[in-house]
Amino acid sequence: MITTDERVDLLGLTPSEIEARLKSHFAGREQPAYRATQVARWIYGRDATDFKSLTDLPAREREALAQAFAVAEPRTARATLSVDGTAKHLWELADGELVESVLIPHGPRLTLCLSSQAGCAMGCTFCSTGWGGFRRQLNAGEIVAQYRASRRWAAANARPPITSLVFMGMGEPLANRKAVFAALTILNQGYGVGARRITVSTVGVVPGILEMARRPEQFRLAVSLHAPNSELRRQLVPLEKRYPLPVLMDALRTFNAAGGQRITFEYTMIAGVNDAPTLANELAGLAREIGAYVNLIPFNPIPDVDWTASSRQKILTFANRLRERGVRAAVRQPRGRDIAAACGQLRVVHLGRRVTNQE
Ligand code: SF4
Repeated sequence: MITTDERVDLLGLTPSEIEARLKSHFAGREQPAYRATQVARWIYGRDATDFKSLTDLPAREREALAQAFAVAEPRTARATLSVDGTAKHLWELADGELVESVLIPHGPRLTLCLSSQAGCAMGCTFCSTGWGGFRRQLNAGEIVAQYRASRRWAAANARPPITSLVFMGMGEPLANRKAVFAALTILNQGYGVGARRITVSTVGVVPGILEMARRPEQFRLAVSLHAPNSELRRQLVPLEKRYPLPVLMDALRTFNAAGGQRITFEYTMIAGVNDAPTLANELAGLAREIGAYVNLIPFNPIPDVDWTASSRQKILTFANRLRERGVRAAVRQPRGRDIAAACGQLRVVHLGRRVTNQE
């Protein structure tokens, strides 16, 4: 990954790439090959944020590293803390773009929700990021940097270590496969986050699901379904026109057949839009077929959209219908509502305006 000043960002390299790059760097300086391992250890194991802190390397080698490489950390543009313990960060990247990540505590566990793009081009009608439009792809280093900065924040603020990662922040991860797949490798092999503790959430980018099915690691897959039939889904998720539900289901069958982890369906519940009990019957049919777990998420209101969340009773009835039909389902509690923790909201608040797709 290249930073704005053309130095190579070490955060965007996989362990084997770091080793190869650094070995060649040190060989050119007539330094022993083990120096590469020393640097990798500082980056992955000790969260080094600059080369000055690599105290077991000679000063001249630290200077040479700083000239050739970067450790591109984002700047904290804003950090907000919810009364429920959810912490949201708005990161400013080297070119001024803003992305968000959210730390969500559940007892002793801590989940980090990562962004994969600045903005999003998918235009889902219920999503604040979708309304904000697409800015650019993140590179692998910018994704990994959110993890590093978040775990430093957690350690400095007496939080437990991050136990799981979800790609459910801004952006559609499978529309940025090159960077996201590299970041998955880096987080898994470099930082030691188990594949089963990392969930990639997609709105249904079929080629990306098929590519995930081909990966040897067992990363988890969540699918933002939000409607159990094409007709309704088209109104909520524009990507449905490109990859209709039957095609998406085929891809999920392939993911299952490849030995993937259990799939989760994410279903945002919007009053009067997709919460009719008959839709629960349809959803149960889809979920049962591929053994999917269903997460029901009360709609998180966003500026300028009139929809409201389904009532608690409606959500419980919907969940019970699913369970009666043999589907495991949970109602996700909204977290961090007081700090606009749903994806894309903080950026919109920070910018104080809507950015359109045409910009
Ligand atoms: S729900 Fe996800 S894919 Fe859809 S617009 Fe929002 S960030 Fe993009």
